[in-house]
Amino acid sequence: MRRYSAFAVAKEAFRDHQGWTRAWRSPEPKRKYDVIIIGAGGHGLATAYYLGKNHGIRNVAILEKGWLGGGNTGRNTTIIRSNYLQDPSAAIYEKSRSLYQDLSQDLNYNVMFSPRGVMMLAQTEHEIRGYKRTAHANALQGVETRFIGPAEVKKLCPIIEVRGPRYPVLGALWQPRGGTARHDAVAWGYARKCSEMGMDVIQKCEVTGVRREGGRVVGVSTSRGDIDCDKLGIVVAGHSGHVADMAGFRLPVESVALQALVSEPIKPCMDVVVMANTVHGYMSQSDKGEMVIGGGADGYNNYTQRGSFHHIEETVRALIETFPMISRLKMLRQWGGIVDMTGDRSPILSKTPVEGVFINCGWGTGGFKAIPGSGWGMAELMATGRSPLTDAFGLDRFREGRFVDESVAAGVAH
Ligand SMILES: Cc1cc2nc3c(=O)[nH]c(=O)nc-3n(C[C@H](O)[C@H](O)[C@H](O)COP(=O)(O)OP(=O)(O)OC[C@H]3O[C@@H](n4cnc5c(N)ncnc54)[C@H](O)[C@@H]3O)c2cc1C
Repeated sequence: MRRYSAFAVAKEAFRDHQGWTRAWRSPEPKRKYDVIIIGAGGHGLATAYYLGKNHGIRNVAILEKGWLGGGNTGRNTTIIRSNYLQDPSAAIYEKSRSLYQDLSQDLNYNVMFSPRGVMMLAQTEHEIRGYKRTAHANALQGVETRFIGPAEVKKLCPIIEVRGPRYPVLGALWQPRGGTARHDAVAWGYARKCSEMGMDVIQKCEVTGVRREGGRVVGVSTSRGDIDCDKLGIVVAGHSGHVADMAGFRLPVESVALQALVSEPIKPCMDVVVMANTVHGYMSQSDKGEMVIGGGADGYNNYTQRGSFHHIEETVRALIETFPMISRLKMLRQWGGIVDMTGDRSPILSKTPVEGVFINCGWGTGGFKAIPGSGWGMAELMATGRSPLTDAFGLDRFREGRFVDESVAAGVAH
């Protein structure tokens, strides 16, 4: 039997992806669609896919001002987990994680899901209490997590220094079924399936206006002309405030750049994902061998999509106490994406004041893991007017004070 190394499998999958994306041609837009989705990131494409697959709605266009997955979906550090505190969050993130398990088969496209385990380090007494509380909540929600001690942390990830002088590792919240997936492949896999179902995925088509008549949507204006639709989904992450403004309503979100970086490739040394919220950094190793490192968000609102030097220094400096070996690594690339943050750090999946317009945004620093579940719920909401997965995430929660507070679970960028 022929044996493949993980690297050979990754190389082969990458070659497939490249072949397919090179062959991709955006179709000309039609005059009218039943549904238009703005934004061909993971959430927009997944919404379109489940509209077609689960609800039989296939006269759909996905309009993208840049290229497939060129927003946050292709810029994130790919961590997938579902260890959130509140029940509605656990429900949508766990639905998502379970869909990720079979996504390669479902899409017939290798998204390289790798459930290698995710640990969130507790480096203060406060974090121990917080994570134990989350582990208890997860047990009630049916999400498999447990609190582990420093010895088990060291066993699972030998490169960690558990006796750091400032922030020793006191334990961790461990989710064995969390992991990573290849981010571009998630976008490409969904896009290919949408296209196979007869939907139009149109790149380089920027939406410049939302057309309304008598309080309901009738279509959009784009850089390729006007297109009519019955329903409109706005799924544009960091640009949500801007596009909502075109539709005539305001959102309680702020846009801010979030950065990440990778090191030179090295031999396999870490086969789990580690997040260290106190020092504010997280790390995993890619199939190519690069250490993938995520840092924090910029301290001010902005729309830049690039990295900055002081972030490399701050993030690496913070991580060195816990991972002394990275002090000797050369950093290879850095980049940034524009994330959309809500006050309670939970997403918005909702109807809007404009009839026929729906919004999916506010995933902030942690929406890659949610792509399949969010698409599933958003499609149900758009097709039927309601979804149990999205009920708690309506826009009205900000008016009514029903926050889904996940500021601890989402406290670090991930
Ligand atoms: C550095 C970084 C690290 C991250 N790490 C993680 C992680 O480890 N795990 C995790 O779960 N999440 C992570 N995230 C968050 C995650 O990437 C996002 O929450 C998620 O990708 C959002 O997907 P989306 O489809 O909503 O948005 P996007 O992928 O940004 O897609 C929105 C699309 O809309 C398009 N668009 C915008 N305006 C218009 C317009 N007017 N007309 C047409 N198209 C338009 C954009 O070009 C874009 O392609 C990270 C994010 C960043 C930036």
